[in-house]
Amino acid sequence: MTFKIGLLGFGVVGTGTAKILLDPFGRHPVLKEITIGRVGVRTLDKPREIELSPHLLTTDLESIVTDPEIDIIVELLGGLEPARSLILKAIASGKHVVTANKAVIARFGDEIYAKANEKGVYVLLEAAVGGGIPVIKPLKQSLGANRISSIMGIVNGTTNYILTEMSQKGADFSEVLAKAQELGYAEADPTADVDGFDAADKIAILASLGFGGRVKREDVYCEGIRQVSAVDIAYADRLGFVIKLLAIAKDTVKEDSDTLELRVHPTLVPKIHPLANANGVYNAILVEGEPLGQVMFYGPGAGGGPTASAVVSDVMNIVGILKSSGKTKELDPLLSCIHQHYCQIAPMESLSTRFYARFLCRDVPGVIGHLGMAFGDHGVSLESVVQIGIRGDLAEIVVVTHDVREGNFRNALVAIDSLEAIDSIPSILRVL
Ligand code: NAP
Repeated sequence: MTFKIGLLGFGVVGTGTAKILLDPFGRHPVLKEITIGRVGVRTLDKPREIELSPHLLTTDLESIVTDPEIDIIVELLGGLEPARSLILKAIASGKHVVTANKAVIARFGDEIYAKANEKGVYVLLEAAVGGGIPVIKPLKQSLGANRISSIMGIVNGTTNYILTEMSQKGADFSEVLAKAQELGYAEADPTADVDGFDAADKIAILASLGFGGRVKREDVYCEGIRQVSAVDIAYADRLGFVIKLLAIAKDTVKEDSDTLELRVHPTLVPKIHPLANANGVYNAILVEGEPLGQVMFYGPGAGGGPTASAVVSDVMNIVGILKSSGKTKELDPLLSCIHQHYCQIAPMESLSTRFYARFLCRDVPGVIGHLGMAFGDHGVSLESVVQIGIRGDLAEIVVVTHDVREGNFRNALVAIDSLEAIDSIPSILRVL
């Protein structure tokens, strides 16, 4: 028995996927039953790393998703369109779909899963979060017995590379970004990565799986790393922290409500925390649940080979089901996504967290006292206050708060900003 896949896209991940499928020796035996039926690309005359027989390649992607010979569509185009329309057309034609496209799933997952459930086909997406790290299937299956309380992680390799380089070399953001672009770790237009949008897509997907409800992508609070400076990285280091772009989904069950915190922002992470040592382009995702406790997934979050490993594992899962049950009638609830309700998202003002803030102050007597009083007036208690530098004729004061409601902290900052002693507040970051 053989199963044919239609590959949409033959770039970095498409090529990695073809490499695995064309060289099954020493891998799982089911791979020998999977063949590449057609491959859809934008340009036929582009030089390719793998020579495919020319009749496999086409620029007519619609003909692939409607081809009766194809069992599974593997969407590796990227972007929103035509990826979304082709996925929907594949589903309408009764095909199972594997995708690595977090942007499409985070925005159109509802529509896609509703159609897939109607048609009785699977849409699997292991490669969409964490590249090669198996995290989607564990969340759906292996951790299914747990009541998940939080999912947090470093899910964007580009920003992790930039922050790691800034930290190790003492370099500034723009300098490191330029180097990352030169090395191919960052796109020419780095917005999706450095402004946190890619991480937001991924945490929306993880939250939906971990907390069993639909999540609207626009509900994810999102701050990127452009404002993180080498100065703050150095101060964080002296205070025992590293700065990471964290994507966080956390259940905040109170007696009368069950809401989710959903946010992406640069965060001071204690050096002893498990996520603090995930460096460079690596990703790490820490899941906490009851009764398991903490489990961490760590590995290469991108790259043709690692991402293809996740893509092909999804294809194998579908083939396994097709082999055991012929045509699927009812979807396996452990593999499909059938969420009816939307998760309730907590507003950021109600969030309780620690903060780091750096102030530039004029040299007037009692400035630390004024700061302390303004914080105290708004119910913000300070864990540490350090006057650690002189910048020109201004004193640099860094504070770390205890857990405080975000709303109270922001109100305190408004009051502090109006103090005569305060010149400016160059940075405000959250602390884990
Ligand atoms: P890529 O290298 O840019 O390849 C994209 C492929 O899709 C190319 O073969 C391109 O054709 C084809 N394509 C794009 N738009 C098309 C259109 N309108 N019509 C026909 N063909 C089109 O992208 P990638 O890095 O492999 O990424 C693919 C997906 O995997 C994306 O969703 C990405 O987010 C996800 N992903 C990538 C990584 C990674 O490390 N790269 C990691 C995790 C997830 P041509 O070859 O003719 O240009």
